[in-house]
This record gives sequence, structure tokens and C-alpha cells, in this order.
Amino acid sequence: MTKQLFSVGMGGLIVIVLANASLAQYGPGRGWRRLGINPPAPAVAATPLSEKAKTALVAMHDDEKLAHDVYVALSEKWNLPMFARIASAEERHMGAIKSLMARYGIDVPAADAGFADPAVAKLYEELVTQGSESQAAAAKVGALIEELDIKDLRNASTATEQADVKFVYENLERASHNHLRAFARVLAFSGEKYAAQHLEQEEFDTIADEPRDQPGRRGVDAGNRACGGNCPGAFDNGCPNCRQRTTSQVPAEVR
Ligand code: MN
Ligand code: MN
Repeated sequence: MTKQLFSVGMGGLIVIVLANASLAQYGPGRGWRRLGINPPAPAVAATPLSEKAKTALVAMHDDEKLAHDVYVALSEKWNLPMFARIASAEERHMGAIKSLMARYGIDVPAADAGFADPAVAKLYEELVTQGSESQAAAAKVGALIEELDIKDLRNASTATEQADVKFVYENLERASHNHLRAFARVLAFSGEKYAAQHLEQEEFDTIADEPRDQPGRRGVDAGNRACGGNCPGAFDNGCPNCRQRTTSQVPAEVR
């Protein structure tokens, strides 16, 4: 039995070795790209992140967790599917940040860990209280979280030169535009005026009026290529166009 398992295991190993050999013949990365994907991202990055970039990454995890936790609380309070849907996108964003943390040797927060910054924990309490007053107040809280997220993502991106980190930030910002727009639409529909607090009002209005960023519609390969091919595998880069992840339960407008 053991021997049988062993030979099955060896068979699998040979297949992997052969697959790698045939991919390698196209030169670094090219074989993978022929399949519509880039080589798997390394588990450990070759270049370390600067302290400034590490601090920004940890702060970005707090931001995404803030969005997730507040939306979960407000979805329970108001039973609005929109909050639950956007919360599941935020959970993926936290995953994308955690993948980067692991890659750059930063302690990955446990699933039940609180916020790294006590000020964000306090903001969580305030925003849930605020958003529990009315459904319009909840939508305002959503808009506020998204504009804060956009501002912080832009700042975090300037703190690093690493292309993989910038790529994740860009994707998370794109998702935040979609979320901001969704909340702004709810506010406009209910005749609520929202004053931007973290972005310039003009910038906020521009994002709120943008056409929705359409994820790739031409199948898995096209979507993955639009994401630099880094879609498959455990590393979630936060790119909304990735078609190989199980995002079917997440409507396109909140990815
Ligand atoms: Mn997010
Ligand atoms: Mn968001």
C-alpha cells in the first residue's frame, strides 16, 4: 500500500518535472505566459521592503479590515445585501495584503487579531455607531471609508518602488472606486448630500461619476492577462479581472 502510494507520488512528481521542463524551454517566464499566466509569484521576495513601506502595508491591512468589519456590522444592522457583498470584497483585499506581508517577512495578523493601530479600532466603533443611526448614515459611512481607503492606498503606493506591492494597491484602489460609486449612488438616490472628508470634493465627485470599471469579459485568459497573469494560485493580488478565482458569488460591481 505504502509502495503503491509512493509510486503514485513519484508519477505525480515526474509529471510536474516534465511540465516544468517543457515550460522552461521558452525561457524565463515565457512558457508560463504561453499558458496565459506568469510564473507563480515567489513565496519570499528577493528585495526587502523599506521600513516605511512595511509600516504602510500594515496600515493598509488595518484600512481593509476597517472596511470589512464595519460593513459586516452594518449589514447585520440593516440587512442590506450591498454591505455583505462589499464586505466579502474587503475580505479578499485583506487577503491580498496578507499575501504581501508573508512575502516580505512581516508578521501576518491572525484571523481573530484586532487592529494594529488603536486609533483605527476607535474609528471602527465610531463608524458603526454612526452607521447604525439610519440607512443613509450607513451609506455615508461607506463613502467615508472608501475615500479614506483611496487616499491611504495612494500614499502607501508612493512609499514603495516594489512593482508587486504597487500592483496590489492599484487593484484595491480600483475596487474602492467601485465601492465609493455604489455608496454615492445610494446617497444620491435618497437625496442625501455628502461632503468629502479625505479627498477633494471634486475628486470624490469625479470618482462617483466614473463609468463602472468593467472586469474582462473575454474568458479566463483575457481576464488573467489584464491582471498581469498573476491570478491563479493562493496569491490573491486583488486584481478585479482575475477570472480563475471563485468570485462568482461576488457581483461584478463590488469586485
Ligand atoms: Mn478594499
Ligand atoms: Mn472598499
